[in-house]
Amino acid sequence: MPDANALRAAVRDVPDFPKPGIIFKDITPILADGELFQTSIRLLAETARDASIDKVVGIDARGFIFAAAVADRLKAGFIPIRKKGKLPWKTREASYTLEYGESTVEIHRDAVHPGEKILLIDDLLATGGTAAAAVRLLDTLQAEIVSVSFLIELTFLNGRAKIGPHPTTSVLTY
Ligand code: AMP
Repeated sequence: MPDANALRAAVRDVPDFPKPGIIFKDITPILADGELFQTSIRLLAETARDASIDKVVGIDARGFIFAAAVADRLKAGFIPIRKKGKLPWKTREASYTLEYGESTVEIHRDAVHPGEKILLIDDLLATGGTAAAAVRLLDTLQAEIVSVSFLIELTFLNGRAKIGPHPTTSVLTY
């Protein structure tokens, strides 16, 4: 059965995408391979340890791919955190700074109930701005965040420092 090393070998580095100086970690070769995709879901699901997770929260958009499959595996619900303007019902929002400008993410106000056990998933942790905003939303809704889990972490950007006291785990580190 493939392991984390097989996942690492499948991640494709794309230099200068989406702009000069960025090395984009392309995870589509993992998604395209049935065994590797299953391995990525298994390893992400294991980051929830033995906690019985009520809901898996995914971050727009690649986070959805992993979070929805992990939710199915854990028999948990799935909750999307989306870029501003996409969710139809009443939302809470959190903004964060990007290299140029600002971005805002939203969650439905009734998506998580106080005390529910949450596994938060995104494909990649870079500077941590996106994940920190997602964590703020979940904190506002009084969720119990069991783990903030990523397939890939770019450790040299120290994004986990922004996530605060919540347990943070990644399957692959660079
Ligand atoms: P950040 O807020 O800086 O942690 O950025 C995280 C978000 O941007 C994630 O949702 C990633 O999908 C995306 N991202 C940032 N840097 C990269 C990269 N080098 N390769 C692929 N995706 C990236």
